[in-house]
Amino acid sequence: MVTKLRIAIQKSGRLHEDSIRLLQECGIDISNGGNKLKSSAANFPLEVFFLRDDDIPQYVEDAVADAGIVGENVVYEKKKQVEVMEQLGFGKCRLSIAVGRNEEFDRKQLEGKRIATSYPVLLQEYLDNNKITADIHEISGSVEIAPGIGLAEAICDLVSSGSTLLTNGLKEVETILHSQAVLIQNKNLGEANRTLLQSLLFRIRSVKKAKNNKYILLNAPNDSLDKIISLLPGMKSPTVLPLATSGWSSVHSVIDENDFWRIIEQLKGAGAQGILVVPIEKMIV
Ligand code: ATP
Ligand code: MG
Repeated sequence: MVTKLRIAIQKSGRLHEDSIRLLQECGIDISNGGNKLKSSAANFPLEVFFLRDDDIPQYVEDAVADAGIVGENVVYEKKKQVEVMEQLGFGKCRLSIAVGRNEEFDRKQLEGKRIATSYPVLLQEYLDNNKITADIHEISGSVEIAPGIGLAEAICDLVSSGSTLLTNGLKEVETILHSQAVLIQNKNLGEANRTLLQSLLFRIRSVKKAKNNKYILLNAPNDSLDKIISLLPGMKSPTVLPLATSGWSSVHSVIDENDFWRIIEQLKGAGAQGILVVPIEKMIV
């Protein structure tokens, strides 16, 4: 029997599309599930299970799936025996405490209060670390309405833009955890599946790396080449090719997305012209 790697992803919801897209960017041909429970890749020994995100750590711990894609918030709340292998750069959010918009806030004011949350384990850890005793009300969804209906004085919930809090008259006052989607694996994978997962991880890292970098091409007068090359470290060092116009060269390199605008300004200042910046599809390092 041919070994297939079984990976669990969210069936529908905020992580579903980005998880499918990541697999597709890794060159894995997968349909997006529809109403199916599982789906096989056409060109990689991979089977994808579509599940509720809350259940993914348990399935991976139990080896029903070899690996999974799920938010760190769920991994740390569920406390299952799984290994976090890689942060994936999407599904970014934070788990925060929020109170009524007009309330003054100081941590100690949570003492004796009722706090509504879907994350009782993480909230309890935060309260313990801060030596606060409060009454945790676990609810499974729409946590933000709890203060408005008199169920709690504060909430502990996931926030990204903060607009849900705002429309419910709440303000974010403390962040307990920063979270993003991660790849998790079962701790006792067999040899064959471990190898397959390593090859998937290699592809994921190449895709992530490419997203964080840009390919840059520019023209420069030869007498400013030294300065320009010092600004562009590249993967090894920049490629320099002569232009048809004498005294000029074309310089090619790779730059980190985060340094992009700062470096562009400096390059222009050093005499670079005709600067082109293009996305990179995969980056093997
Ligand atoms: P399921 O039906 O699979 O249980 P769900 O309703 O629990 O879905 P979603 O709301 O789809 O979950 O969120 C999935 C994950 O997306 C969260 O666990 C979190 O990691 C991430 N996420 C990113 N931004 C947000 C946000 N603003 N609110 C909630 N989750 C967010
Ligand atoms: Mg869920």
